Amino acid sequence: MLALQGDFEAHRKALDRAGASAVEVRTASGLEAIDGLILPGGETTTMLKLLGDEKLFEPLAEFGRRRPIFGTCAGAILLATEVSNPPQQCLGLIDIGVERNSYGRQLDSHVARLEPEEAFERAAGPGQVEAVFIRAPRILRTGPGIETYLRHRGDPVLVVQGPYLAATFHPELSDDPRVHRLFLERL
Ligand code: GLN
Repeated sequence: MLALQGDFEAHRKALDRAGASAVEVRTASGLEAIDGLILPGGETTTMLKLLGDEKLFEPLAEFGRRRPIFGTCAGAILLATEVSNPPQQCLGLIDIGVERNSYGRQLDSHVARLEPEEAFERAAGPGQVEAVFIRAPRILRTGPGIETYLRHRGDPVLVVQGPYLAATFHPELSDDPRVHRLFLERL
């Protein structure tokens, strides 16, 4: 997992629960030792600055062209092809357009129980999914290669495209290991 900023510790525990061990990545050479990468939640403006300081943006994009990446919340924003509110740099690895901080103040932070789409149940198993949203982005556009695994009030909140997964919520903050397992299956 990328460990520059944000809630990467929660991902370590979630990976433990899903049966894998996490490695912290802070430099380009750190990418050489791993099979796949989690981009955690946090603040994308800060993450982009730190990625720039570490000269890590290009190596990350290159890593993503050959290995699986799972982005949660801020991580999903980094993976996208278009970002608004405001527009900012992104890796362009998963064909979605996202708007940052899109749920307004009232819904800044909330927990929902989601009824999974059939595609999620087929891949991960049946049953509702708890989703914790924290200053979440909204996925406004999904490209033709995208499969939507979970929706919240009609908006896609977990999307998959080949080796890439993007969640606008924080599966690492719930006990359910199913979403992390979807990532581990891609390694
Ligand atoms: N609001 C953050 C951003 O736009 C994302 C929030 C999160 O990762 N919990 O960068």
